Amino acid sequence: MLRGTLLYLSDQPKLKTILGGPIARPIVQRFVAGESLQDAIESGKQINANGMQIALDLLGESVHNAQDANAAAVQYIALLHAMDRAGLEAYASLKLTQMGLDIDPALCLRNVERIVAQAAEFGFFVRVDMEGSSHTQATLDLFKTLFSRHRNVGIVIQSYLYRSEGDIRELNVLGAQVRLCKGAYNEPATVAYPQKADTDHNYIRLMRLLLTEGNYPAIATHDEQIVKETTRFAAQQGIGHDQFEFQMLYGIRRDLQEQLIRNGYRMRVYMPYGSEWYPYLMRRMAERPANMMFILGGMLKERRR
Ligand SMILES: Cc1cc2nc3c(=O)[nH]c(=O)nc-3n(C[C@H](O)[C@H](O)[C@H](O)COP(=O)(O)OP(=O)(O)OC[C@H]3O[C@@H](n4cnc5c(N)ncnc54)[C@H](O)[C@@H]3O)c2cc1C
Repeated sequence: MLRGTLLYLSDQPKLKTILGGPIARPIVQRFVAGESLQDAIESGKQINANGMQIALDLLGESVHNAQDANAAAVQYIALLHAMDRAGLEAYASLKLTQMGLDIDPALCLRNVERIVAQAAEFGFFVRVDMEGSSHTQATLDLFKTLFSRHRNVGIVIQSYLYRSEGDIRELNVLGAQVRLCKGAYNEPATVAYPQKADTDHNYIRLMRLLLTEGNYPAIATHDEQIVKETTRFAAQQGIGHDQFEFQMLYGIRRDLQEQLIRNGYRMRVYMPYGSEWYPYLMRRMAERPANMMFILGGMLKERRR
């Protein structure tokens, strides 16, 4: 119930003005690597120094005019140049609605293709994030077009969707690189498992499918049981540590991130930056409503002053 409310609020950007400012700052700083490109590059260097790779995400989504979509693409190109100059072990992650998917898929494809082509020149990879289920088919369609022209691009699949096994089988046949996550949006029971236990169970089935038949999958979760099952299954199948990677979000389960690195696994930290942090932050709240206590605690302190 609280999860649903928080996910509903993530679509109400006006609330950012209430939640923004000094009250939310500590929690924004925990989950977001900074508002500027320079902040992100500096944080990225520290994470690389700890033996982890990075997926850099310029925050922004649901763009409704072509000018903003084109501007976001230009900012991604600037990000790629900065990653190259800094010598980061990194790739870029982006959302298609930020690139204009809701305005015109052809405009979106042009924007993403510019980014993917520039990334290829630097030897970088680009991951297309997955958004809510109303965008799943359009995201997969656009991804397949991109993948038929560029190999340095991958996609994300969510284990809460009933359709995901079919999508993974198709992507495995194509040889596409998939990041598997549970899914972060508010979805109806017509398309997604309403019970978390079913999403978790499906995650394990899909993880096995990706490890045995996929191309360098990314196992993106902070769920310790799933991480354990992944390492157990990989060992049992003789799948090497270099044939897949774990991914976790910036600021979440740093202990587990470090432990996996110590045990010789690959770990990539998804690092968002930029000023459009509101919907991203609300999804992180919905995953763990206890995070809300940071904000409420901050609000109480402000009132007492
Ligand atoms: C690298 C990466 C990329 C992602 N990309 C996408 C994407 O493209 N599309 C999409 O829909 N979703 C994406 N997600 C989000 C994902 O779908 C889940 O919503 C999120 O990862 C929480 O699920 P979990 O697997 O960690 O498991 P959960 O069962 O939710 O959590 C397991 C444990 O992790 C810790 N934890 C999880 N979330 C939080 C949090 N917010 N704050 C503090 N602790 C937490 C807690 O200890 C919790 O008990 C991504 C996640 C990762 C790690």
